[in-house]
This record gives sequence, C-alpha cells and structure tokens, in this order.
Amino acid sequence: MRVLLATTNQGKVAELKHIMGEKGIELIGLSDSESTDRIETGRTFSENALLKANHYHRITRLPTIADDSGLEVEALGGAPGVHSARYGGLGADDGARVAKLLEEMKDLPPHRRCARFVCAAAMVWEGGQKVVLEEARGVILTSPRGHNGFGYDPVFFYEPLGKTFAELAASEKAAVSHRGGAFRQLATWLSEGESGVLDTPSSADRIVTTTN
Ligand code: IMP
Repeated sequence: MRVLLATTNQGKVAELKHIMGEKGIELIGLSDSESTDRIETGRTFSENALLKANHYHRITRLPTIADDSGLEVEALGGAPGVHSARYGGLGADDGARVAKLLEEMKDLPPHRRCARFVCAAAMVWEGGQKVVLEEARGVILTSPRGHNGFGYDPVFFYEPLGKTFAELAASEKAAVSHRGGAFRQLATWLSEGESGVLDTPSSADRIVTTTN
C-alpha cells in the first residue's frame, strides 16, 4: 500500500518511513518546494493535520497522511501550542525559539515546568478520514542539553529515561515520542483490517474519525 506523507521535512519522512514500513505501508514524501505552512490555519493540531491531509489528497487522489505537532506548556496556558514552529516570530530559528521559551519560563519553579509534546496524525482517503492523537509528557529544563533531534528537544526532559529528547538516539526518541506513538497507532489500525477502506471502493463512504 502506497501512502503520501504530506510533509517536506525529510527527517520526519525517514523516521516515519521506518515505522510505517514495519507494517508494509510505503510512504512517499512531498518535494522540498511544496511548503505546507500556509495550510496550517486551524486552531488545533487535529484541525491542521486534517487540513493538510485533505489538501494533498484533493491534489493527488492518493491516500494521504499529514501530521501536526507542537509543544504545550501548562503554566503558559498551552503555549507555544499550534504556534510552536512560529514561536519567536519570523526569522527565529530553533535556538531562538528555545531561548524565548526559557525566558518566558525563567521564574517558574520545577513543579510548574510540566509540558507535553502533542502529535495529531490524520489520514484521508477516497470518502473517509481518521485522526489519531498522541502525547509525550516531560519537564522543561532551565538550559539546553544534548545535540540530537530538533526544535525544543534540548530542553524537553523525559523523566522515564532520565534524558532530554536531544540526548536520545533517533530510534530511542521514536519509541517514546508523540509522533512515533501517533504513527504506530495509525500503522496498526491500517494493518488491522480497517485498511480495507483504502483499497475497496464499495466501502469508500465510511468515515472513521477519532479526535479528542
Ligand atoms: P510540525 O508541525 O511537526 O512540523 O512541528 C511544529 C513545531 O513543533 C516544530 O517546528 C517544533 O518547533 C515543534 N516540535 C514538534 N515536534 C517536535 C519534536 O519532536 N521535538 C522538538 N520540537 C518539536
């Protein structure tokens, strides 16, 4: 089964190809020139993931998966949330976004530094759609640690492993991350019979949507 993954982030494609490949699902990526940013106009991760998946499904007619993810800090009212990629404004890079986050949180004591990464993964095919949501819970440190990963990984401390996400190897992170969890959920669902939805035209009117 071939499925389009609506992202230009090649790191994501590599990580998710591995997860989906284990269930016999071949992922194909978008070309680098096709930015998905302007499609992310929703108020929730699920909305954004569905907007992207619908957009590229309409263009390609291929079964399409898209994800949207970000960091939510409880004490900041859920910020940066769906604005995680744009936190710190235009021109800010990962380092600047992490610096802004640490500045916003500088007066918060340890017990108020809880955060979670959230990932919504949406799949759209002829006549149906499904969204799954996963999270990874952690604590925001006061300074960065580790050089792997991307985004807020260096300040996201994952207590069960005693390391930040940036101190984990890619495979270790995928095993516990929000995105790894969401795509494993989707891959399992696809490989467990429901995937018939994708290749049986007569069931194209079924709509399965799971959000929270
Ligand atoms: P995207 O929607 O998955 O591209 O993620 C949006 C933004 O959320 C990214 O640009 C990062 O700033 C942040 N983010 C999402 N997932 C992760 C992660 O696994 N580690 C660190 N930052 C992340």
